[in-house]
Amino acid sequence: MFKPRVYITRQIFPDALDLIEKSADLELWPEDEPPSPEQLREAMADVDGAIINVMDRIDAPLLDAAPKLKVLSQVAAGLDNIDVPEATKREILVGYTPGVLAKSTADLAFGLLLAVARRVVESDKWVREGNWKISHHPMFWLGSEVNGSTLGILGLGGIGLEMAKRAQGFDMKVLYHSRTRKPETAKEFGLKYASFKRLLTESDFISIHVPLTPETNRFIGEKELKMMKPTAILVNLSRGPVVDTDALYKALAKGWIAGAGLDVFDPEPVPAGHPVLGLDNVVVLPHIGSASNRSRREMHLLAARNLLAGLNGERLEACANPEVYESLGI
Ligand code: NAP
Repeated sequence: MFKPRVYITRQIFPDALDLIEKSADLELWPEDEPPSPEQLREAMADVDGAIINVMDRIDAPLLDAAPKLKVLSQVAAGLDNIDVPEATKREILVGYTPGVLAKSTADLAFGLLLAVARRVVESDKWVREGNWKISHHPMFWLGSEVNGSTLGILGLGGIGLEMAKRAQGFDMKVLYHSRTRKPETAKEFGLKYASFKRLLTESDFISIHVPLTPETNRFIGEKELKMMKPTAILVNLSRGPVVDTDALYKALAKGWIAGAGLDVFDPEPVPAGHPVLGLDNVVVLPHIGSASNRSRREMHLLAARNLLAGLNGERLEACANPEVYESLGI
């Protein structure tokens, strides 16, 4: 019986692997480091489908080297590593995994917001270094109050909305700025639309949830940081290049804003000794927004189902280029 060939560029949960193994011959890249572009090109030369990850660059030369490819199944909500129009030109379906990671990513965004506001990481380090000599001091470790303050959400999609819901539990006023206005969602969840400028100037906390695109590259630079309140805290769980790192360093070092919580960085991984790591008013995490057991397993299972649907000539559960359906007649 014919079995399609599948390449998987990183480890995935065993039950997702089992699902694929039932209907395809698979090869799995076993290392923690991703395959190099050359290794990826070689591995994709003869495959019908692939499960890929945010670290795999999928561009025109790679697609040219994969003439049999029918479906690319990305294990992420962001697609910035994939040239989707090039895949579309070649009638290759691109699957991805939005939704199943929205709640866990928003949980972490809110955790980062709280950690920076209440100086959780900074004070934990201080305790571990043996500095806690007075049991309670009325003026030590004062931070920013989260409840009752204003949260500005940039990008009201799946994760942005989950962030807004969490903010409601903290009695926050929530402003949003997004490409498309969402009056019904705003009404249902008590959110207010704000222009980009108003969101920047009026928010106590700004949480970024836009995808990385040519329009959002360096969305937040020097000009935008200078418009924020000096007490503002910026949280980024989108992609590193959405924020200009050099400008952010200046803003944090010079007090244009009060702090930042970053799950993503530009460049990623952040080089050891990077000046941002020398600042106390920033918490940096290693891109772990969706890294809960439940979310990651659901992402891997959804990616497996997207892959199998594409191999079977069926519509995917989450497809980034549904315009290919028409040319494939499905
Ligand atoms: P989503 O549902 O597509 O939401 C993105 C939102 O951003 C949409 O509402 C979109 O507007 C808006 N947007 C796009 N371009 C914009 C622009 N130029 N100006 C203003 N708003 C703009 O995506 P999601 O699932 O919430 O994920 C958002 C991003 O988070 C992903 O693309 C990914 O890069 C990142 N992410 C990171 C992690 C992590 O581990 N840190 C985990 C998951 C996702 P429309 O409504 O008009 O489309």
